[in-house]
Amino acid sequence: MMAHDPITSLISLLSRLPGIGERTAARLAFYILEQDAQYAEALGHALTTIHDEVTRCELCGNYGGEARCAICQDPRRDESVICVVAKVPDLMALESLGTFRGRYHVLHGLLAPLDGVGPDQLPLDALERRVADERVKEIIIATPLSVEGEATALYLADALASSPVRVSRIAAGVPHGGELEFTDQVTLSRAIEDRRAVR
Ligand SMILES: [Zn+2]
Repeated sequence: MMAHDPITSLISLLSRLPGIGERTAARLAFYILEQDAQYAEALGHALTTIHDEVTRCELCGNYGGEARCAICQDPRRDESVICVVAKVPDLMALESLGTFRGRYHVLHGLLAPLDGVGPDQLPLDALERRVADERVKEIIIATPLSVEGEATALYLADALASSPVRVSRIAAGVPHGGELEFTDQVTLSRAIEDRRAVR
């Protein structure tokens, strides 16, 4: 029978996190163990409640703790511009610039027909409804400059072609195929500023 080894279990769980190898997992596990028990309790509580307490914003899909996220609730945000992103970490990367004052629409994925992700799997209807309902003047498509990101951008531009909104795409500069999340701030700022109209 295997001996009960809580530290090995913790290391194995931590090492499943992205970018965390076995050694970093071990460092984290021992760090947690060497802090006072309150820290481990608070960490454990945050982890066990995350699925119940974190919700997707009913409007934009961003994560938050209420029906609408902090950005959608903020009256100072410009409701005439919506920036479409693939995932919440991309939204956070753009937010960290502090320059974009519009709102977002999070797709939680990209079109990937080969993997069975078609337009029905993404909240594209919700975006079209927002364009129709809200005072939207511009949609900035900030999906990554990868094959799937470009395919999604083209699909969206087509879907929005008959609406009066201006549709723009972030400029090259974000490394090709590159993740917005990992793009440096100067490049990301420039990609938004130099966005170009789609057709
Ligand atoms: Zn929202």
